Amino acid sequence: MAEVGIRGVRKTYAGGFEAIKGIDCAVGDGEFLVMLGPSGCGKSTLLRMVAGLETISAGEVSIGGRVVNDLEPKDRDIAMVFQNYALYPHMTVYDNMAYGLKIRGMSKADIESRVHKASDILELRPFLDRRPRQLSGGQRQRVAMGRAIVREPKVFLFDEPLSNLDAKLRTQMRVEINRLQDRLGITSLYVTHDQVEAMTLADRMMVMNGGVAEQIGTPMEVYHRPASTFVAGFIGSPAMNFLPARLTASGVELNGGHAVPLPAGSGGASAAREITLGIRPEHLTLESGQGIGDIAVKVELIEALGADTVVHARLTSSGDPLLARLPGSARVSNGDTLHFAITPGEVHLFDRQTGRRL
Ligand code: ATP
Repeated sequence: MAEVGIRGVRKTYAGGFEAIKGIDCAVGDGEFLVMLGPSGCGKSTLLRMVAGLETISAGEVSIGGRVVNDLEPKDRDIAMVFQNYALYPHMTVYDNMAYGLKIRGMSKADIESRVHKASDILELRPFLDRRPRQLSGGQRQRVAMGRAIVREPKVFLFDEPLSNLDAKLRTQMRVEINRLQDRLGITSLYVTHDQVEAMTLADRMMVMNGGVAEQIGTPMEVYHRPASTFVAGFIGSPAMNFLPARLTASGVELNGGHAVPLPAGSGGASAAREITLGIRPEHLTLESGQGIGDIAVKVELIEALGADTVVHARLTSSGDPLLARLPGSARVSNGDTLHFAITPGEVHLFDRQTGRRL
């Protein structure tokens, strides 16, 4: 079993900067955990602490039940795939994959068997005699993964492995990593700042901000029940709309007096309080029978993307901006007044001060 335990982990760099401010997460055996967040939030630092490439200032990291804080990277039974996959240019693909096993003293026959198995999984067999410069970017990235797979580690650690690839290759490699995970089922920690990568690869994701884990959950939990305005705004494209509002006993009141009734059971507030109302652009509809509320807006700009039409509008009552993603078939023009309803179950309420979900 290869669970990864992260308990009360902190990192203070020399000079006093605290990059990780206490993170707890239990990654299950075979689970794929994606760490996601803006530049500088501490994703790589946390991953590097699990890898043993950074010291742990406080707390504990365990792999397969064993605390590894004081173990060298080579003794942690992990394999890492980096963004700059750093293949040896003078070695063939075969030798690149075999190298790590050779220096560990594995027999030739065992090495051959492992390299062949990995190259079959990654469809690299035809390229084993080539050098890295004779490969495409995607093939090189597959060799980098092959190098990790042949080690048969307990845990894979990925640090933005796809960020040097173009958009099309990234999509392809994303699918390959998904397939690989299905086949191998190796516990994986994966760092990215790309939310599509995170949503599609993760069993669970950790959304990080300023050295803390704002939320850990399945992609669907994070999307449908974001724990804070930060998470809500970070996941989803276009980003969630945030409207200043008041929560009262009967529902939500927007600036300018617009009322949005709350669905039964979601509970109003006995004393009115200032909140932020969150609505995703894709959860606004023009079909009043299919949603709740009646939000009148004036259309300012339309982006027709083919499958979708993004409508930039302002509330007629308050002038607050609102973005809606409608089906491409929607007939909407600049200057129109529209009435939006919200998809039931997709009304998000956050404390105005703390940004936490109510
Ligand atoms: P990115 O997506 O840009 O790679 P990240 O989320 O991976 O960002 P980290 O590389 O973990 O972020 O860095 C987290 C914070 O720690 C940043 O503010 C960074 O400046 C700081 N930091 C990283 N390495 C060091 C170091 N060796 N000494 C001091 N501060 C550091």
